[in-house]
Amino acid sequence: IAWWDHVLPAPKDPIFCVTEAFHADSSPNKINLGVGAYRDDEGRPVVLQCVREAEARIAGSRFLESNSAAVSSKMVEESVKLVFGQDSDVVNEGRFAGVQALSGTGACRLFAEFQRRFHPESRIYLPDPTWSNHHNIWRDAQVPAKNYHYYHPDSKGLNFSALIDDIKNAPDGSFFLLHPCAHNPTGVDPTEDQWKEISYQCKVKNHFPFFDMAYQGFASGDLEKDAQAIRIFLEDGHLIGCAQSFAKNMGLYEHRVGCLSILCNDSKQGAAVRSQLQQIASAMYGSPPVHGVLLVSTILSNPDMKSLWIEEVKMMLYRIQKMRTTLQESLENLDSPLNWENITKQVGLFFFSGLTPNQVEQLAREFHIYMTRDGRISMSGVTTGNVNYLANAIHEVTR
Ligand code: PLP
Repeated sequence: IAWWDHVLPAPKDPIFCVTEAFHADSSPNKINLGVGAYRDDEGRPVVLQCVREAEARIAGSRFLESNSAAVSSKMVEESVKLVFGQDSDVVNEGRFAGVQALSGTGACRLFAEFQRRFHPESRIYLPDPTWSNHHNIWRDAQVPAKNYHYYHPDSKGLNFSALIDDIKNAPDGSFFLLHPCAHNPTGVDPTEDQWKEISYQCKVKNHFPFFDMAYQGFASGDLEKDAQAIRIFLEDGHLIGCAQSFAKNMGLYEHRVGCLSILCNDSKQGAAVRSQLQQIASAMYGSPPVHGVLLVSTILSNPDMKSLWIEEVKMMLYRIQKMRTTLQESLENLDSPLNWENITKQVGLFFFSGLTPNQVEQLAREFHIYMTRDGRISMSGVTTGNVNYLANAIHEVTR
């Protein structure tokens, strides 16, 4: 029977390939720098203390049909405050549509579907480079995508003038996806003044800014500071969209907890947009699971647990920053002829190293060090125990 004879294997996910190669390597020195989530100084995944406390508190509670909607809307209300502000008028006046989503990916997918349905004429502009799944998500939602300039390989920084030109040259009323902090994969974020200019130019062109907030807290260690870009856009009176993920900053990767919010002109519009989002979601997957959402809403609505979480985010970032400093110093101490300042200038989980695909391959082959071909180093895979070995290996392949 020939039903599926024409189906060829899909291209492998780049991160999956890294993980696969890492697991197949039996060297005791091997290092996985492909992971996109936080790991502790022993290289282990972490369950945050605030999550353990929330688990204990909700243990035994029964997820009745009648309370899952309430839990979900509580989580949404607390989540949006993290990005729009604790005393945000938008939240107080209900001028938004917010729904629980299947982590950051699900929030993006839901938005892409919504965009196609209600603005089928518009493109999405994605930064070059961006998280590779952004391309897949908008492609599957059948929204045409185009890149905008973002990163400058020579300076290993932001290509700000080209970015602004792309905003100016895009057709009026385009959709722009922005990483509000800790850009993946480059670790390069605009400055406050640059954000102001980006917001201004988007306003002039009547573009719709869509923020993919996957790493709130991981740029500066401060959740509020990391929402600064979004606050600038709010002050400028934009209606924006925002995808939030608790995968990284709460370590809830497997629970798939996220939130999609879309600002509206008033609460009536908010209710209409929300009902459409819910309809799209219910045809795709029904409703998302409730356990992780209960964890998040418990943590965010309990002041003690929330403070603990805020501290734990700082601690995670502190470790990452320490590893950035140590890696840079180790390379400098080896008299590397290259400039490694960007290790500490870049922010978030990743260091976009500029290593070539050949150098990446050599690191894997000779040193058992694994990363994506674009040279993105996940700093969470770097530990006190392996940082000097890593610096030596990088030095060997770049000298
Ligand atoms: N957006 C960006 C920029 C990301 O880097 C990621 C994860 O790597 C996601 C969204 C999705 O994360 P998740 O679906 O695990 O919340």
